Amino acid sequence: MNNTYHSVVIGAGLGGLTAAALLAKKGMKPLVLERNWIPGGCATSYPRKHFIFESGATTLVGLDPGMALHTLLEELNISVEAIKLDPPMQVILADGEKITRYADKNEWIIEAERIFGKKGQRPFWNLLFRLSDFVWRVSGKYLHFPPTNVNDLWALAKKMDVRDIPYLRYAFVTTEDILRKYGLADNSRFVRFCNEQLLISAQNHVSQVNALFGAAALCYTQCGNYYLPGGMGVLSDKLSEYITQQGGEIKLRTEVLSIQHKKGDFTIQTRDENITTPLLFSGIPLNNLAEMDQTGGAEKYRKYLFNPENLYSAFQVGIAFTSDKKTNLLHYQIHCEKPFKGTEADSLFVSLSHPDDTIRSNEGVRVASVSMHIRNPHLKLEYNKEELEQDVLKELEKQGFLKKEDVLYMHSSQQKSWEKWTGRKWGFVGGYPQFKNIKPWQMKDARHPVKGIYLCGDTVYPGQGIPGVVLSGLVSVAKAETDGYI
Ligand SMILES: Cc1cc2nc3c(=O)[nH]c(=O)nc-3n(C[C@H](O)[C@H](O)[C@H](O)COP(=O)(O)OP(=O)(O)OC[C@H]3O[C@@H](n4cnc5c(N)ncnc54)[C@H](O)[C@@H]3O)c2cc1C
Repeated sequence: MNNTYHSVVIGAGLGGLTAAALLAKKGMKPLVLERNWIPGGCATSYPRKHFIFESGATTLVGLDPGMALHTLLEELNISVEAIKLDPPMQVILADGEKITRYADKNEWIIEAERIFGKKGQRPFWNLLFRLSDFVWRVSGKYLHFPPTNVNDLWALAKKMDVRDIPYLRYAFVTTEDILRKYGLADNSRFVRFCNEQLLISAQNHVSQVNALFGAAALCYTQCGNYYLPGGMGVLSDKLSEYITQQGGEIKLRTEVLSIQHKKGDFTIQTRDENITTPLLFSGIPLNNLAEMDQTGGAEKYRKYLFNPENLYSAFQVGIAFTSDKKTNLLHYQIHCEKPFKGTEADSLFVSLSHPDDTIRSNEGVRVASVSMHIRNPHLKLEYNKEELEQDVLKELEKQGFLKKEDVLYMHSSQQKSWEKWTGRKWGFVGGYPQFKNIKPWQMKDARHPVKGIYLCGDTVYPGQGIPGVVLSGLVSVAKAETDGYI
């Protein structure tokens, strides 16, 4: 069989779905090809034993006006029920001290001073708040960044505000440099706090993450943080519904095997059919794309591919447990004294379902997602899965989250599970790690070397997390439009 479509999107993660929904809005009737049985990839929800678990992402920012997800949903006229979390997070340090990451800026500085001492905290955070506000403000405004042709430059020039230029110098400065500037680089307790917080949203440490991305990551809790009743899958479901309502199509359980290019058209091979289109969007990681890309363009983006030594997979435990605690504080980072056996991971991220969310579980039952970073996803794992599950459980008991006898159901996913769930090479997840020698304008932009193919998702600019991949979807469609494909 050979079918022809106006546009095709590979992957129904939030990057691909964003691009597909915008294409649908513009009448491009996209066909979305997704290898899994549900859409959403690393940010979705799935049922298991009467409970709804999160596949990966649990924290959500981006619903505030001016942010990419808000812009997208507004443009598509989609509304989602969302509960604003305040405070959004608590961090439990290795010495047992608990720090509440208040959303209010002043309240947070007072809390940081209480824990880490007064020296340098206020000016450090005031600078970071300014940088973070800048990053969020400009990321939605300059959709043609990084520029790769004259049209992009023209589009950027039209929106350029000279007051934004001085901020660019912070792309040449690391978060560690800012710590040094305020006399905080020797405050080892605070440096570890920053490193662990950066790991969850920038996949690297203070010495590597530039000050712009570092500020956005460290001030994540000062953005509106939201919880979606029913789980993160609500987002991918709403986008999928929109796409089909606008005449698009989503084919699940359909893996793309290869892409070929002939006379301006692309032929996409799946197990059952060959599909032809003049306009193709890829929402899968660059490393995966390169392996199926027979267009002749792959050589030109080889330098942007990731080395597995720089990437992470995740060990994640999903637990349903009885609880009469009604706490609205849902997200916790626990810093441990030593790494978990067989891993280099010495911190856990714990997210609970909202106590009023009776979609994910019955009243009196909470669903927890607990994850840790696993380095070197390409190497043979050294930990014992069952032992590690028990060690995680012990840590949660120690911190007072639950008792062993409260557990109703528990299961875990590791690198192999991620490979199976998302197809991501080596089971790596978490996206584009930040490096000081890769400036924002040196990241791979949305244009594939072959005309008519656009890239989005968490391995291309701007990468990382739901806000990043949604923005990457907006950027890819904006560039295709500038190039005259839409
Ligand atoms: C444990 C964990 C916790 C996280 N926590 C957060 C968080 O709290 N907040 C946050 O904002 N972000 C978080 N993230 C990151 C965030 O979930 C991801 O960065 C984001 O969802 C990635 O979206 P994507 O569209 O780029 O890729 P993916 O979600 O990987 O989507 C790609 C899709 O393409 C499909 N696919 C792959 N190959 C093919 C093929 N050959 N043919 C067809 N389909 C294919 C996959 O099945 C998948 O559905 C977390 C991630 C993980 C793993």
